[in-house]
Amino acid sequence: MMASFGIPDDVVMHETSLVVLESPNNYLTQDQPGFILDFAAFKEFLVEDGRKKGAEYRFNARVRDPIVKGGDVVGVRYNGDEEIYAEIIIDATGPAAPLAKSLSIVDLERKNHAVGIEYQFEGINTNPPGYADLTDAMMLRLDHEYAPGGYSWLFHTGEDEAKVGVCFIQNERYRENDTHDRTIDGFLEHWLETDPRFENASRIPDTQVRGSAHVQSPGSMSTTSFMAIGDTVPSIDPVWGEGVYKCMKSARMAALTADRCLTGSVDTSTREMAVYDDLWHKQVAPQQDRRLMMTKMLYLASNERYDQLMKDLNKIDRDTLSAINNGNKREIAKLLHPSDLSLLWRFWRETQAQ
Ligand SMILES: Cc1cc2nc3c(=O)[nH]c(=O)nc-3n(C[C@H](O)[C@H](O)[C@H](O)COP(=O)(O)OP(=O)(O)OC[C@H]3O[C@@H](n4cnc5c(N)ncnc54)[C@H](O)[C@@H]3O)c2cc1C
Repeated sequence: MMASFGIPDDVVMHETSLVVLESPNNYLTQDQPGFILDFAAFKEFLVEDGRKKGAEYRFNARVRDPIVKGGDVVGVRYNGDEEIYAEIIIDATGPAAPLAKSLSIVDLERKNHAVGIEYQFEGINTNPPGYADLTDAMMLRLDHEYAPGGYSWLFHTGEDEAKVGVCFIQNERYRENDTHDRTIDGFLEHWLETDPRFENASRIPDTQVRGSAHVQSPGSMSTTSFMAIGDTVPSIDPVWGEGVYKCMKSARMAALTADRCLTGSVDTSTREMAVYDDLWHKQVAPQQDRRLMMTKMLYLASNERYDQLMKDLNKIDRDTLSAINNGNKREIAKLLHPSDLSLLWRFWRETQAQ
């Protein structure tokens, strides 16, 4: 992502070299380079870079709805009655999706709504006894006690500092393993209070990130003169929540489509805009349905099953791990145990309820 989008090093907060997957009593450590972005600096870079390339920004402009004439989306209304017109309109408002919803392009369902919260902390012990060494690591933890139907994370940002967060799908079906009625803030607090790595940790002010996304299959993403990108679609990877790269890739595919439609004679018909849908499925998230299936199965499993999964993953070579992460059905099937019948039954029930 850094290379293909020309992201400068000065928006990188820390370079990591490991990825750690944790379950309540087990973990898996893998060599895997990564970049932790300074998100505010990253967004400022995007604005500056856009301006250099000719973009004009209108801050504090709240888009209300699309202006449609003769079945064609010709503009948007914002901040009450202000209007702006264009050949092509793109909704990039994340899960808010005021235009895509109004045009019935996306149907973001409540039962697939995932929420997330993150803060940066100092005073973190990244290597206490009995835990994986999280120095220069991105750690993702599967544990219903802290994130029922989701995961929590600790991304080391250097010294004794880290970004720490929790996200989960707000759906009762995934909360069968959870006996408490906590909010997302409550789950993060609970993790902070009970994990020794946070014993001396304190929040760094003004570092809160809070947001949401939908863990579901995208339907249509475009119509005449209109495209929806990023998490409006949604584009985020459902398994590990990698949203930034996926969303930027979707923007690039929309740009290619717009370029094609506006070059020579202008043709922004539904058929021409649908090139974006094809590009999205081929280039942005070719395995999205399989990854959604993996996500649902993962979040329905119990804490004991997570421990077993880590044990099994530790015995597998790197290529096979990659194949599993890429949704290879044969390799995923090899991870199943006879005792998984009840999990498969719950998974089947869940998919029938869709
Ligand atoms: C706590 C948390 C941690 C995360 N960590 C990571 C991570 O480590 N790595 C990663 O890759 N991804 C991460 N993600 C996911 C990633 O942030 C998202 O997938 C990504 O930001 C989505 O980009 P987007 O541009 O589609 O939407 P957004 O980033 O949601 O941007 C949408 C923008 O539209 C604006 N908007 C909304 N409604 C309107 C309106 N009516 N009019 C005008 N503007 C509007 C919003 O204010 C916002 O600025 C995280 C998400 C959360 C919540």
